[in-house]
Amino acid sequence: MDSRLFSFEFYPPRTEAGESKLDAVHERLSRLKPDFFSVTYGAGGSTKQGTQQLVLKYHQLGSTVAPHLSFGGTDEDELRALLEAYKQAGIDRLVTLRGDLPSGIGAAANHRYASELVAFVREETGDHFHIDVACYPETHPDSANYATDVGFFKQKVDAGADSAITQYFYNADAYFYFVDYCNKAGISIPIVPGIMPITNYTNLARFSMSCGAEIPQWLRNRLEGFGDDVEGLREFGIEVVTNMCEKLLESGAPGLHFYSMNLARSVTQIWNNLALSDRP
Ligand code: FAD
Repeated sequence: MDSRLFSFEFYPPRTEAGESKLDAVHERLSRLKPDFFSVTYGAGGSTKQGTQQLVLKYHQLGSTVAPHLSFGGTDEDELRALLEAYKQAGIDRLVTLRGDLPSGIGAAANHRYASELVAFVREETGDHFHIDVACYPETHPDSANYATDVGFFKQKVDAGADSAITQYFYNADAYFYFVDYCNKAGISIPIVPGIMPITNYTNLARFSMSCGAEIPQWLRNRLEGFGDDVEGLREFGIEVVTNMCEKLLESGAPGLHFYSMNLARSVTQIWNNLALSDRP
């Protein structure tokens, strides 16, 4: 039995049309038999209900679904009620985060570190939930340095996290050195690489700037060269990401978490290239 975990992440769509499209994507990706889906949570509160509704809908359709959760914009009573609702529905996995607050909300919202949320969930619900947390092979942008960032990651583990999912990266060495550093720092939970397929260079470049994920120069140069050739870029992106995933898995990564961006095509091709449906 393969103990590695493979998952797909969705975000709650803002429109009915978006939700219908996502339903079709969910159906297609379900056929690949991932271990779970996860659904992001707007820390400013924008997608709070959307997250819960989507999680419960796909859970009722038979998928294992892990809601993302954060304190941002949610008080403890509300969070307690949400945890209880998930528990009652049979949800037993969470991805707990500080969240990124939209500008203008910061000071007013309940801006608390993820380690506090892990401790809160453990205090309220004991061992009911498997708790995933986020971590950063290329360092979180708010962090003073590598060592303090790993120190804060360890606080989440000490508070009760069971496993972690990384921010995306395109340099497998960043992941290998990070895992090694974490192990030496006493972190022994599985650290699953977060994988971002490449479908839109402009959006990827902008988002990577804000979240601190590096697009290596050689890759930037190649991607820029595709210009308006969306299909060519997508195919090349599949090749690059498949090769990186192969390297990660061959070197013992404990699974892969795909940031699907609510799209099925690229992740399905990468999945098939890796023959992940054939795993025992
Ligand atoms: P934390 O672990 O709290 O860390 C945040 C920053 O504070 C880091 O720089 C850390 O080093 C520092 N820090 C931690 N503890 C302390 C302390 N005690 N004192 C001082 N500094 C400290 N965002 C969303 O809004 N919704 C989502 O659903 C979502 N899903 C995500 C899923 C994954 C797998 C990943 C990798 C990210 C996701 N994000 C999401 C983005 C995430 O919320 C941001 O990266 C956010 O800025 C940090 O969240 P965190 O949980 O890692 O925070």
